[in-house]
Amino acid sequence: MKPARDAAYLARVRRLQCRAPGCQRTAHHAHHSTVGRGMGQKASDYDAFGMCHDHHYQFHSGTGAFAGWDRNRRREWQLEQVSATQLTLGHEQCK
Ligand SMILES: [Zn+2]
Ligand SMILES: [Zn+2]
Repeated sequence: MKPARDAAYLARVRRLQCRAPGCQRTAHHAHHSTVGRGMGQKASDYDAFGMCHDHHYQFHSGTGAFAGWDRNRRREWQLEQVSATQLTLGHEQCK
């Protein structure tokens, strides 16, 4: 199955506020959720949410605001951010 691509949706995601706890900055980065993805498989663009440059880096490196988060916490948090973003942008989940 090919993941959905929607450049316009991603552009809107980047204009939202960073989803990291307490961050007020504009995201500018669209992070694709790593939940439920097989090796080398890219997530759908509708599984993306916004983070600022610093928090995006911290999430991937498990540092800063995300230091000490285990797999499960990272998973749950990403699912929440994807849902909140889809709700904000009015995207209907199609599954
Ligand atoms: Zn990312
Ligand atoms: Zn941030």
